Amino acid sequence: EAKKRGGNFVCWYSSRLDEGLGYKVALRTKIQEALAQEQFELFYQPIMTDKGKVSGVEALIRWQHPTKGYVSPGDFIPIAERTGQIIQISEWVLKKACHDLTQLKQYGIKSVSVNFSPIQFYRDDFVSKTKAILEQFDIQPGEITVEITENVLVNDTQRIAELLQQLRDLGMDVAIDDFGSGFASLRYLNVLPVNKLKIDRSFIEDIDQNAHNAAITCGILNMVADIGIETVAEGVETEAECKYLVEHGCHFMQGFLFCKPKPLDELLKWAERQHSFENED
Ligand code: C2E
Ligand code: MG
Ligand code: MG
Ligand code: MG
Repeated sequence: EAKKRGGNFVCWYSSRLDEGLGYKVALRTKIQEALAQEQFELFYQPIMTDKGKVSGVEALIRWQHPTKGYVSPGDFIPIAERTGQIIQISEWVLKKACHDLTQLKQYGIKSVSVNFSPIQFYRDDFVSKTKAILEQFDIQPGEITVEITENVLVNDTQRIAELLQQLRDLGMDVAIDDFGSGFASLRYLNVLPVNKLKIDRSFIEDIDQNAHNAAITCGILNMVADIGIETVAEGVETEAECKYLVEHGCHFMQGFLFCKPKPLDELLKWAERQHSFENED
């Protein structure tokens, strides 16, 4: 299935390349229009603690195309990475997330996770730009978690490690996203200055019944338990998965079981309802 991380890349190559250069040029133009006409939106999905409280949210980009409708990030982020437009998109995402965080904080949501693209790391002004945006919106670095997908960390680990360290030095949290989905997971753990791991959704699926997934996930949880790395399970969809994860020491959980990604106003309403539940007991 194309959903499997890394599959995006391969699929895009095999199914779209033959549509030729025209296709790519057209998409570049459309992404440019999307930026200019503000067709991008940020959705937010809660990240829950093992006690069932909201810990923070992840910002997930959506493209509301006027005629094509909703285009998923899996379909346009890889292209924007090739055209270089990911730089502008990422800047928009970070600014928007910082802007919205001010409002989220009024609802008790204290942090936002933002997905960064490895392409950003090749810009000389990457760290200073990031710092400047946080200052512009009066956001403390500790309120932002930077997520980078494991399977794109393939090249130039040394440079990426240095830049991530600079983000950590600023006070930001850094998470490896989709952990376990690539080929070098364990090595990354050794060389990259990260303080969070998001365990890939494929290992969480049916974890209460699937011995293979249980073994891998428990292996990861045990491995990082003593080194101060926090663990987040991605794609938690059932109560049974959640219960299993809590019992085996996973710190945080994210998935449709709790809440699907939602526009800011709907997420705020969700948070408000959540609060009133919590205050009942
Ligand atoms: P990700 O960062 O691993 O985000 C999690 C994805 O899993 C999201 O897909 C989310 O909607 C989905 N998800 C969450 N809970 C569940 C669940 O319980 N079941 C299932 N089946 N799926 C769940 P989405 O929003 O389509 O994003 C896909 C990927 O696109 C993200 O994966 C991330 O790598 C990338 N992406 C999204 N927003 C941005 C962005 O602002 N910048 C960059 N560079 N990449 C982004
Ligand atoms: Mg992510
Ligand atoms: Mg992920
Ligand atoms: Mg993922």
